[in-house]
Amino acid sequence: MKKLAVLGCTGSIGTQTLDIVRSHRDEFEVVALSCASDICNLAKYANEFDCKLLGISDASKRKDLGELCPRAEIYCGDEALAALASCDADIVVVAVVGMVGLKAVAAALDRKKTVALANKESLVAGGAIVAEKLRKGGEIRPVDSEHSAVWQCLRGEKEFKRIILTASGGPFLDTPINELAYVTPERAIAHPNWRMGKKISVDSATMMNKALEIIEARWLFGTTNIDYVIHPESIVHSMVEFRDGSIKAQAGMPDMRLPILYALGCPERLTREYDAVPLPLRLGFSAPDENKFPAPKLARRAIAAGGDAAIVLNAANEAAVRLFLERKIAFTDIVRIAENALDAEPAACAESVESVFETHNRIYDKIYLKY
Ligand code: MG
Repeated sequence: MKKLAVLGCTGSIGTQTLDIVRSHRDEFEVVALSCASDICNLAKYANEFDCKLLGISDASKRKDLGELCPRAEIYCGDEALAALASCDADIVVVAVVGMVGLKAVAAALDRKKTVALANKESLVAGGAIVAEKLRKGGEIRPVDSEHSAVWQCLRGEKEFKRIILTASGGPFLDTPINELAYVTPERAIAHPNWRMGKKISVDSATMMNKALEIIEARWLFGTTNIDYVIHPESIVHSMVEFRDGSIKAQAGMPDMRLPILYALGCPERLTREYDAVPLPLRLGFSAPDENKFPAPKLARRAIAAGGDAAIVLNAANEAAVRLFLERKIAFTDIVRIAENALDAEPAACAESVESVFETHNRIYDKIYLKY
């Protein structure tokens, strides 16, 4: 029986993680749950899974949560991340949205925990710090579908030559470039293959999601030899090329419960009810158009620049996506703003979680408040 702490349990990955626990009651036990502010669902899950250790970011809701779950131990804010990371969980599922994920990962790794990681920001902005902590202990198991695919392809292998991430191309793959400036938030968040939160759906539409994933892969697998290919069906989740010319790919129907289950069950593959890949099947792989979707070029620039460049890219994009969702800027402004931020900011080097947040907040506020 593995004990799980699920941080961000009310979001898309969090609820799918709990789905997996429901169908594997003999394998997993939930010992800690947290969320940002949705106390109704948090209390519902706490009761369902008989979980007595709860965390909530929004401290003003502590009292109400206490009334809903009178027997639970409740922590708030950053204190909650530290308390939940130090509980007796075997695996800490970090499914929180945004930069707070870095604090959660840092807290869990400081306690030498195994982290099932669905949060992008922790590696994109805090990759160097996370890598340093990993040298001292703990483990990260990727939950992102592409990185889980690479991880699965690498099992049993000693070395590899190149990572090839796949990208669906998002909802505007076939939209003419001159129409992109006019697309609405509603169209941008309607992803063809995956059900996801708003921020990541917009990132998928601009291809910034692939940019962030290239940076994630750089830290997870210790290489800069990372390419990507457009694969609209999202059935091959990524590939790894080896020095004998062999390419291994991991495939399956697009369903985040597969990478979540693999991260939780590894080294075993646990049984799951799934939609089989319909065969026969034609799959497409085409070259990306970086003139139309330049975001991944920015990832390469940020990796080459090193230091805080990826923090700047991530913070600028986050502010720009919010401005786009609030209809203050056009869709095509998002990546332009991120590029301008990379041009404008010197590449200093954050040495602590606190300094990552300082840089992130400074860039985010500067851009968000300008519009
Ligand atoms: Mg992904």
